[in-house]
Formats: sequence, C-alpha cells, structure tokens
Amino acid sequence: MENDAAIGAYEYTCYRINNGFVKGIHLVNRKELTFLERIYIFEAFKGILITSTHFFKNIFLHTAHLLGFLKGQSAAVTIQYPDEKREYAPRLRTRHRLVQREDGSPRCVACMLCETVCPAKCIYIIAGEDPDPNIEKVAKKFDIDLGKCVYCGFCVEVCPEDAIRMDTQIMDIAAYSREEMLLDMDELLHPGSRKNG
Ligand code: SF4
Ligand code: SF4
Repeated sequence: MENDAAIGAYEYTCYRINNGFVKGIHLVNRKELTFLERIYIFEAFKGILITSTHFFKNIFLHTAHLLGFLKGQSAAVTIQYPDEKREYAPRLRTRHRLVQREDGSPRCVACMLCETVCPAKCIYIIAGEDPDPNIEKVAKKFDIDLGKCVYCGFCVEVCPEDAIRMDTQIMDIAAYSREEMLLDMDELLHPGSRKNG
C-alpha cells in the first residue's frame, strides 16, 4: 500500500498489488489541526502529563504492593532482559529446529520444499542417499541463515515430514559477524547448543 499524494483536505491512497497493479483508491478525510495543536507546546505538555501520570501511578502502586496493599491492582513491570526472560506463547515462531527420529537421525528427507518456498532464500540443503533403503534421501547439509530469515514459518508449514519446527522458544539472534548468524545442521538438531544462543 502506498500513500501517493494529498489533495487539499483529502489524501488518496493507492493499493498496489502484484507488480504495481492499482486495486483501488481510498479517500481519507484529513483532520485539520487546531491552532493549539499547530503551536505544539500544549500537545507537548499533554504528552508529559500522560507520562508523569503513569510514572507516579506506578511508583504509588509498587510502594503499596511492598506494604501489602492494593495487591489486586497491577503496576507496570520492567523485565531486566537478558538477565530475566519472560515466557513466550507456545504458538510464537522462535528459532528453528530439526526434528529427530527415535534413532537420533534427522527426520528431514531432503525434499527441498522448504528451501523452495522460503521467501528469503535462506535455507541451504545438500541431499545425499540414506543408508536405509526405505528412505530415498537424507539431508547431508542443512543450513539456515538467520540474518536473512523473516520468521514467516512457511518452511514449517510446507514440510511433509514435520521435520522442521519453530518452537525452541529461543529468540536471541545476536552475533558478532554475518557468518555466526548461520545455523548449521548440528545446531538445528541440538537447539541452544551454541554459547550465545
Ligand atoms: S521462517 Fe520463512 S524466511 Fe525463515 S527459513 Fe523459514 S521459510 Fe525461510
Ligand atoms: S520440507 Fe521438511 S523434509 Fe523437505 S527438506 Fe525441508 S525440512 Fe526436509
């Protein structure tokens, strides 16, 4: 969606879908600023007032909680990340992992569907023959470049073997170099094995 121009008190918005095709134009009535809004000083004070209200309300409630009062009323809490970490929702897409079979081998059969569907082109697989005659192929190399990944989850959705999941609850992707953003097969099979992850 693009906001292309403004006409007087209106602005028109073009919805661009599929290589520039204009789907429709949506007229929006732009609200004129009042005199007080245009000189900004009162708006700035309004902002400071809102921030100060929350600040003193939280100090009051935290002090009351310490003294054993008003336990039913919650106050804002600052989580001291990364020393403290909050629990993430189970459905949140977090760092990838490769699922293992009972014998510890990867469940992936190197069908390449995830590599093909990945919009960021950040999955790199090299297939090889599986020693088990019942399994046609196996991934010899399976890397994901987290520096490019957009966490869309398409790779998980498309996998016919349920061999890749994004449920490790690991969110940190910080690294000192681009090379360190690359997850190799060992890390994908043993999530959290790297020191900074
Ligand atoms: S989550 Fe999306 S971008 Fe990341 S590896 Fe999977 S398909 Fe690619
Ligand atoms: S879609 Fe699944 S089975 Fe196919 S290559 Fe990706 S992880 Fe392996």
